[in-house]
Amino acid sequence: MSFPGSGLAKGLAVTLRTMTKRSVTAQYPDVQPDLPPRTRGVIGLFEENCTVCMLCARECPDWCIYIDSHKETVPPAAPGGRERSRNVLDRFAIDFALCMYCGICIEVCPFDALFWSPEFEYAETDIRELTHERDKLREWMWTVPEPPALDPNAEEPKEIAAARKAADKLAAQQAAEAEDRAGAEASTQDQNQDQDRQRPETPGEGT
Ligand code: SF4
Ligand code: SF4
Repeated sequence: MSFPGSGLAKGLAVTLRTMTKRSVTAQYPDVQPDLPPRTRGVIGLFEENCTVCMLCARECPDWCIYIDSHKETVPPAAPGGRERSRNVLDRFAIDFALCMYCGICIEVCPFDALFWSPEFEYAETDIRELTHERDKLREWMWTVPEPPALDPNAEEPKEIAAARKAADKLAAQQAAEAEDRAGAEASTQDQNQDQDRQRPETPGEGT
């Protein structure tokens, strides 16, 4: 049931309730927003990890990743080995005017070459400037936040466990080789000393 002036009273009540609360308006750009670390601002490229497998470009729903590459022959690592060919990146660009920030490219990259950066201040007046080439994508890479620290009780990642095992094996092998070498040198010295002792003195020696 409403009575005359109830609307006005309700409105005044809301005004009184809210006028004592702190404002929640973000004062951007005077105050930078405190964004969560997984914010999807822009994509950074760590091109050393990119093998030009083209997965990201193929899976991108907007077809806004442009990659050019050529093949190069790598000479064999050891004599008698086979030559190998590898892809060399010529161009990597993302058109952020088309990108819908779905993150599929980052998810599908098997070599950890793409990362989200929370940077978002790259508005342009010319839409063509929103196509970021590899140099710009690399610059974004330096704004990617560090990953959170590992849980101290977490299982050791498989890659690290495998690398540590290989390093331990190599160190043990090198230690065994060094020990063998030291043993061989010691026995050679003993043999030489024995031979010196057994050698008959030549006439005139020691006089
Ligand atoms: S975030 Fe999505 S739309 Fe943007 S480049 Fe990656 S796959 Fe394409
Ligand atoms: S999926 Fe990753 S490795 Fe493959 S081309 Fe894209 S960025 Fe490079």
